[in-house]
Amino acid sequence: MRRYRACGILAALLAVATAAPAAAREPSGASPLAGTIATESYRDLERKVSHGAIALWALGAIEEHGPHLPLMTDVVVPSGQLRIAAGALERRGVPSVIVPPYYWGVNNVTGAFAGSISIRPEVMTELMLDVFRSMAKAGIKRIYCITGHFDAAHAGTIAAAVKRANDEKIIEARFVVPAPLGKRLGLVSGQSGAIFAEWPAPPAGEPDLHAGEMETSAMLDLAPELVQRDIASTLPPTGLTPEQLAGWRKGGDTARSITPSGYLGRPADATAAKGSARLALEAGAYADAISADLKAVDGSSGN
Ligand SMILES: [Zn+2]
Repeated sequence: MRRYRACGILAALLAVATAAPAAAREPSGASPLAGTIATESYRDLERKVSHGAIALWALGAIEEHGPHLPLMTDVVVPSGQLRIAAGALERRGVPSVIVPPYYWGVNNVTGAFAGSISIRPEVMTELMLDVFRSMAKAGIKRIYCITGHFDAAHAGTIAAAVKRANDEKIIEARFVVPAPLGKRLGLVSGQSGAIFAEWPAPPAGEPDLHAGEMETSAMLDLAPELVQRDIASTLPPTGLTPEQLAGWRKGGDTARSITPSGYLGRPADATAAKGSARLALEAGAYADAISADLKAVDGSSGN
């Protein structure tokens, strides 16, 4: 027994020695499943549905986010936004449940990097519709979707699935989209299930679109154990021209040649305090848009 235990300890030490770098970045309390229905029982869900809960759903992606952030960044950030938004809605008397986040997204822009997993839009659409059907079967009447991933092909897929959910009367679905992204997609607020959230302005200076100051700050607030700060602090600003930015949006090898390290902006300027402040504004914008939509529907919810 004693010898067995000694072997076990030796094996454990070896395992720690070989796995140490990955173990240092294990997600802890910031798991994207935290606060979702996945952590509760079906009876908890039934009880919340009987009180008229709406559903909130974050749709992210597994995508490269520079050398300093994890591939799950676009899942962690919107999941954090929804937890804050759900609290704000609750204080306004709007009960909600959070659906486990979707992470098999559509990746065009960063598709040339390892770890950017891209799903065909039609596959994502069908999967979304099945989730909508399941939530409707559970008694949910309205579901609000947000995106954690601003790739136009990904966000366009959410818009299309939401439109189909409404057209086919599967469930009342909304895509709560940051106004600048909604305009870029050609959506109109109030049409086809899209509603715009009034988005806080980005930091001044060069565009900070991907794995830069904003996203790195959000991750430092939500999941600091997943941020490789020693690397982030060494990354210089990308300083792209408008022409280079337009080229980056084309995606694939062109995007990779313009941002070879896979980030765009100033990750070295990130702080947890900046992340916390911005997340509060963004979550507030989502909660406001949802409240306004509910108010327009029946005049009894929201404030
Ligand atoms: Zn991102």
